[in-house]
Amino acid sequence: MVKNRKKPTLRLAVAILMLLVFSGFYFLLAPYVHEEVGEGDAQVSATIPPTEATTQTQPPAVDKSSEYLVLVNKTHGLGKDYEPGDLKKVKYAVASRESQYQKLRKTAASAFNSLAKAAKKQGHTIKLTSGFRPYSYQKSLYETYVNKDGKYTAEQYSAKPGYSEHQSGLCADVSSPSVDYNLEQAYGSTKEGKWLAKNAHKYGFIIRYPKDKEDITGYEYEPWHIRYVGEDAAKEIYEQKVTLEEYLGEV
Ligand SMILES: [Zn+2]
Repeated sequence: MVKNRKKPTLRLAVAILMLLVFSGFYFLLAPYVHEEVGEGDAQVSATIPPTEATTQTQPPAVDKSSEYLVLVNKTHGLGKDYEPGDLKKVKYAVASRESQYQKLRKTAASAFNSLAKAAKKQGHTIKLTSGFRPYSYQKSLYETYVNKDGKYTAEQYSAKPGYSEHQSGLCADVSSPSVDYNLEQAYGSTKEGKWLAKNAHKYGFIIRYPKDKEDITGYEYEPWHIRYVGEDAAKEIYEQKVTLEEYLGEV
């Protein structure tokens, strides 16, 4: 009998306890549940408008794996056998130079012709002196310079064979009558050199070895050496005042 009388009390106690436990859980957890939902909503409403604004104001990112953004420098070589299959003779080239080295890859050749034509319209004569150089020619140039100046000095201005950007068919040495079509640092101070530095990016070219960037590019300032990278990349590199190495995150 005692057992029978105790049972309802026990059931009631258990029921009250369970009620307390569940309500306790509810009050403890409810604020967190609401907060999470709230934060999520806030994130959604806060992130969507800037995302839309970003896509409206910024152009699509440049594809840095583009074939025109290939990095060739003292540590990134092209190999002995690399030769582009789409080389074209450039129209605006210095007549007295050997014409076999006045070619560029098709897109770069056409871009250079546009650059030179635009320069001419504004009263500046800018011509290509040297474009694509095969491995064999770079090898003979390099050996000549090493014999003349020694290895260390020669490597400040000449690339080892296989490591010359000229082998890519994407760069050009250019010059003008004001410096007798020579390749010298004074070119950067001539009206043509200044025009080139200011306008090359509009045609997809960059000044590849800028002043005070020798520690990054590995080369002295060369106001005459321009490199085709495509218009979008050239604009970004020009505006950000960086080298190709920095732009590609390869410093
Ligand atoms: Zn060059």
